[in-house]
Amino acid sequence: MIFIPRKLNFLKNDRFENLNLKAPFLKALSEEGYSSPTPIQNETIPIALQGLDILGMAQTGTGKTAAFSLPILQKLNAIQSPDKFREPRAVILAPTRELAIQINDSLRTYGKYVAVKHTVIFGGVKQGPQVKLLSKGVDIIVATPGRLLDLINQGFCSLNKIQFFVLDEADRMLDMGFIRDVQKIVKILPVKRQTLFFSATMPDSVIKLADTILKSPKKVKVKSTLTPVERISQSVIVIEPQNKLLQLITLLKDKVFESVIVFTKTKHKANRISQKMKAIGIETEAIHSNKSQAARQKALNAFKNGDITILIATDIAARGIDVEAVSHIVNFDMPSTPEDYVHRIGRTARAGASGIAISFCEPSERLKLFRIEKLINFKLEVVKSNLLNPDDILGYNEDTSNKPKVKNHDVNQFENKKYKSSKLATTKGKSALRRYAKKNKLVQQKKKIKNK
Ligand code: AMP
Repeated sequence: MIFIPRKLNFLKNDRFENLNLKAPFLKALSEEGYSSPTPIQNETIPIALQGLDILGMAQTGTGKTAAFSLPILQKLNAIQSPDKFREPRAVILAPTRELAIQINDSLRTYGKYVAVKHTVIFGGVKQGPQVKLLSKGVDIIVATPGRLLDLINQGFCSLNKIQFFVLDEADRMLDMGFIRDVQKIVKILPVKRQTLFFSATMPDSVIKLADTILKSPKKVKVKSTLTPVERISQSVIVIEPQNKLLQLITLLKDKVFESVIVFTKTKHKANRISQKMKAIGIETEAIHSNKSQAARQKALNAFKNGDITILIATDIAARGIDVEAVSHIVNFDMPSTPEDYVHRIGRTARAGASGIAISFCEPSERLKLFRIEKLINFKLEVVKSNLLNPDDILGYNEDTSNKPKVKNHDVNQFENKKYKSSKLATTKGKSALRRYAKKNKLVQQKKKIKNK
């Protein structure tokens, strides 16, 4: 499969010059090599510059950070604070430290020719340096909710002068249980402010939260041409759990897997797989929330620099990973929700490039697959498992009880079963399956009685 590098020119013929952006920003964007705005930037920037609230539905990798950062930087730059000490005038909330750091880096990139000060605040590290930076005065705070609240409660930070509030990846914020913290922060924000709210998915819970935060928002949704579904080549390998490790090794031994993020369900599994890969000479790093911030950042940097080409990650840790040219996503474990699938595959195909996503689906996980297909409205291609002979892999010493069965799955059989269940997938998932099973049981019982 061909891997196309990211930072492609977008098909639309729009120009940043037509979006009312001022010279210092146009210069910074041109230096970054952005020749035209992405669809979310095209739609969001003019509305945000008008001062309106925005409810944006955009996945990661669509360029939404620039979409909200540029208008805020431009507006703050236009009205420099009259006070000598700068109090924060914009706050951007992100669900993870990595994403917060990433947004702060983007502010540095896009705002390099203006004097708008910004800083990033997140937990898991000592608060001292963050407090020190805050005490010098900043215009924009990028933060994860918990640490921000902590510092506010200790009196190190005030949100009295906030004019712009961004909530990024709201769906993930809810998934991670940050709703209470977000609500507490919203409560202390000035009522008169502009709010930009972004989420990759819009379940009811997110819409409910948006309703309490936004005022007559303009809705912005990126066009389907840039959704991962269309730009990412996605496939599924139906595989028994005990064969997954060998399948991963088989894939990673192939040279086309240049830069890969492998997703696992648990931290423990991420560690274990990473160790096993190392044992057979494949350099990997595991990244998850049990690792210190320093270790996570070190692994990320090594991945960004290309020192390591494979990162084994859990869902939470992978948020905010913005690495040029991730060529492949491998879902070693199926994601627990269809929304997670969208988030995971969004790590590849960033900013208009294309990418490849491969998911290992255990035969018992068919329902998970149907739900994903239902969400993305797209049927994933089922491909045959093809395993290397374990005896040919130096350092591969799985104990025999766990020895992979080299027998391939009958894809057609899976497909047939899938056809049956996909009818059910249009109803209500598990509960429908249960109803279906109950109905079947009743039919069987009736038949039995009739035959007696
Ligand atoms: P985001 O969705 O904000 O995480 O952006 C994903 C990646 O797209 C970032 O690494 C940006 O550097 C890149 N990017 C954002 N806007 C553009 C653009 N207009 N042209 C090319 N690359 C872009």
